[in-house]
Amino acid sequence: MVISEKMTSKQRVMNALKGLPVDRTPVSNPTNVATVELMDLVDAPFPDACRNPELNARLAATGYTELGFDSIAPYFTIIQESSALGCEMQWEQKDNWPTVRMNNPIWKSIEDIKIPENFLHHQDNLTIIDSIKILKQEFGEEVAIIGKTMGPWTLAYHVFGVEKFLLMSIDDPELTIQCLNKLKEISILFGQAQIDAGADVLTYPDHATGDLVSGEYYNRFLLEIHQEAAEDLKVPLILHICGYTLDRMDYIAQNNMAAFHFDSKNDPAKAKEIVDGRIQLIGNVNNPVTLYSKGTQEVREEVYRCLDAGVPLIAPECAIPLATKLENLLEIPKAVKEWTKENKSS
Ligand SMILES: [Zn+2]
Repeated sequence: MVISEKMTSKQRVMNALKGLPVDRTPVSNPTNVATVELMDLVDAPFPDACRNPELNARLAATGYTELGFDSIAPYFTIIQESSALGCEMQWEQKDNWPTVRMNNPIWKSIEDIKIPENFLHHQDNLTIIDSIKILKQEFGEEVAIIGKTMGPWTLAYHVFGVEKFLLMSIDDPELTIQCLNKLKEISILFGQAQIDAGADVLTYPDHATGDLVSGEYYNRFLLEIHQEAAEDLKVPLILHICGYTLDRMDYIAQNNMAAFHFDSKNDPAKAKEIVDGRIQLIGNVNNPVTLYSKGTQEVREEVYRCLDAGVPLIAPECAIPLATKLENLLEIPKAVKEWTKENKSS
């Protein structure tokens, strides 16, 4: 029996983010799925595809046109805002991620936190904003366009340096909260610009990860700020934190965002149990082992594990390695469709 799909990709994603019924589980990536192979295919390599809106849109579209995912996410990296703030950049080549050079942070104290006047017009922010406009025009009816704005915790790592910022959080929690409250304005500003350009959804990465800070940190420093972001930015937000997060998922479930993009270090059934319908889950196919180094059979097993646990949106756990094989990525929507067929006919 052929199961006909009745919804557009966009309806499927938007419904799943709201916990509403869908014709099948969407495959929707909150973070990058571009690979070197896809860059070559459409002649839009890194780093140019991160800095030129036409190339950016062309590469981002392949998530839908080539991979068959239900969303398009044009912000590939985590550094566009930091570049616009004046951080020193290492742009790398097409097989490597651009990064912020961390040895010489731009800011030292709370007084230094200032949003440059041309922030939204900086080439690297404008690339994302203009790319969303292009994608909206071309795919806006059928596919969910997912923008991305970095949360204050991640921005703090980039502008103060990871070690200095973590030390500040221990030495002076009050000052740390004040810094985060200033930095959160940057997240709102860039997020709203992407909504105005046509983004249907925003990913909100804020890397308070299990290997660096405790679960209690999330409650103490970020929960309120994330609730405010969910209030201020009027599209569904997807929080992204990589690594182990089960110890903070109960707090995360209270942040009023639409979904949490979670890592394969967290068992999907346990995660479902903790969030208990308070926030949708999206993920959590393993990148470094499964997608990067295994074959389609292992990819399928992991997709099935998520679907069996009731994860409502399937995705790689984080930005995929740029050398990931296409066949492994293509296997994700294929596995979702076959699982749906098996589970509908039984
Ligand atoms: Zn991540």
